Amino acid sequence: MTFDPETTTFLIAGPVRIHPRVLRAMSMPSLNHRGDYFHGIVQEIRELLPVLFGAKGRQVILSGSGTAGLEAMYSGLLPKEGRVVVVTNGNFGDRSNEIVRRYASNVTTVSAPWGQALPAEAVRAELAKGDVRAVCVVHNETSVGLANDLAGIAPAVRDSGALFLVDGISAVAGIPIAIDAWGIDALVAGSQKGLAAPAGLALVHLSDRAASALHPGTFYLDLAAHLKSLEKNDTPWTPAVPLFLALREALLLLKEEGLEGRLARTHRLAEAARAATDALGLALFPDRRYASDTVTAIRNPDGMGDPELRKVLERQYNVLVQGGQGALTGKIFRIGHMGIADWPDLLVTFAALERILGRAGRVATPGASLRAIVERMP
Ligand code: PLP
Repeated sequence: MTFDPETTTFLIAGPVRIHPRVLRAMSMPSLNHRGDYFHGIVQEIRELLPVLFGAKGRQVILSGSGTAGLEAMYSGLLPKEGRVVVVTNGNFGDRSNEIVRRYASNVTTVSAPWGQALPAEAVRAELAKGDVRAVCVVHNETSVGLANDLAGIAPAVRDSGALFLVDGISAVAGIPIAIDAWGIDALVAGSQKGLAAPAGLALVHLSDRAASALHPGTFYLDLAAHLKSLEKNDTPWTPAVPLFLALREALLLLKEEGLEGRLARTHRLAEAARAATDALGLALFPDRRYASDTVTAIRNPDGMGDPELRKVLERQYNVLVQGGQGALTGKIFRIGHMGIADWPDLLVTFAALERILGRAGRVATPGASLRAIVERMP
């Protein structure tokens, strides 16, 4: 079998596989984005967005990838005065750190090595020094397959009065997020991850406090302008119309499954992926206590880089998983199991992995990884 994008087992860490209903939803003739029909679609999307976030609030749809959502959040909410704390333990935390530094001048970066637990004590120590106006953190570090313990730092952030700004791009609709209980002020989701819509939209949830703290940042991504237009089921600039159509269908699919249902399925798949990894004698990359439910990051076995592993998966078995980023290139590979990923995807992926490792004489108990998955199926 050779790689075929139309039939591949597609488990990269997002974009994720898209349901045919969502693909079909995009096949529409051009719509007048200022007409009643499209306004009706925007209204439906607005009514459905609380299903995605698991909370009500002011929610914005931006045409642009997840980074557009981050830029909108940071440019519109980072204060001109006072300190900002950015937390990082992976590539996307580092990226946020770069964006934040474009919009705030007094920034303290609190970091842990990639894949290690969120440095909660160091965050608390920075907050205790006072004058922190915003704390910025990535909930799910896609680059290292790690879910940061936001609940652990939430009370300290709340007590400090700082805005709590969260990159939830690979967390939303994949791992539980208690927006209100944790006091999150702004949360960014990407359409191409747990929601399983095409890439190209960012969804931003804002608390009342954040909505009233907005100030003009970038022009295109001005969240206040978007909120104002959305009140009339409109957008300030020409929206990515086909992606809005796909978004509505993906939200309907999520509603049918229920957010709880999707989170539970994603968790179950993640537990199976971790158990299968163990059964193959491979090691998880992140601190296991915080292993992500949406992305499993696995160390490459010694002596096997991308050409021996990931490329064979792709070319011989038509299975697509993702490699490592930055310094982790060729050292880890990542299996995304969010959105509509399901048991057949995992079974095929681990069957192929087991075959590749078996041919290299590296499988102690043939069939063990598949048994680990089967035993965890509902
Ligand atoms: N933050 C996280 C946690 C991500 O996983 C990603 C993409 O994978 C991004 C930010 C960047 O999002 P985008 O590539 O959609 O702009």
